Amino acid sequence: MRVLLLGGTAEGRALAKALSPHVDVISSLAGRVPDPALPAGSVRIGGFGGVDGLKSWLHDEHIGAVVDATHPFAATMTAHAAQACGELEIPHLVLARPAWDPDGAHVVKSDIEAAQVVENHRYRRVFLTTGRSGTKAFAGSDAWFLIRAVTEPDARTLPRHHELLLSRGPYRYDDEIAIMRDHRIDALVTKNSGGDMTRAKLDAAAALDIPVVMVQRPPLPAGVTKVDTVEQAADWVARQT
Ligand code: NAP
Repeated sequence: MRVLLLGGTAEGRALAKALSPHVDVISSLAGRVPDPALPAGSVRIGGFGGVDGLKSWLHDEHIGAVVDATHPFAATMTAHAAQACGELEIPHLVLARPAWDPDGAHVVKSDIEAAQVVENHRYRRVFLTTGRSGTKAFAGSDAWFLIRAVTEPDARTLPRHHELLLSRGPYRYDDEIAIMRDHRIDALVTKNSGGDMTRAKLDAAAALDIPVVMVQRPPLPAGVTKVDTVEQAADWVARQT
């Protein structure tokens, strides 16, 4: 049986490593970053062409099970996979790392709401870590932003006053403390991505008494089966074969 593993995350790579070579697994990446960390085993890169394109691909490639290990904020891909697998009756699992405890944070539903919180609280020096697609909502702000992303955001989506920090996690607590101190950050804006690779910024913000604005995860499609860990996902795959 062939398994499609929708990836683009550390969990996706860890699951590909756990399954290869004894399971016939093909990982799929969106192709957003020029030099992606490649998972073990077979890899395909690029979109499928919506739900219909995905359904054709699953059929043509004789896929018997799908694990969606995309990022918790990759809501479109997750919705497409749930729909396509539902319609084709292909077993389907979502692997999503547990969310962070938002304790003490301003919890918001969207980047737009996060930008409103920045405005309302008159934060002036913001550490913005919502990724390359997360800057647009802040484009009209007068505050200064330290924008950290893996790849450069579209220039049209950038706020007037900013500095770009292109980098990829994991990040260490001491470095996060130094970044926030050196740039005199007065608020941190983050998505609730979860996981250990990028959580040091929350601990650093707490230590420096810097307020956190946290964008909630989009809800999962109704009725999907979800696990938290790579081990649980590997067990699920073993039960399908
Ligand atoms: P998205 O908005 O949910 O998806 C937009 C479109 O990109 C999908 O409709 C699909 O195109 C294509 N796509 C997304 N993930 C894909 C995959 N793994 N394989 C093939 N096509 C994929 O996705 P996104 O938020 O832009 O994320 C893109 C990728 O980056 C994902 O693989 C995700 O795991 C990774 N990532 C995302 C974030 C984040 O914050 N969103 C953070 C870290 C990593 P078609 O409709 O043409 O099939």
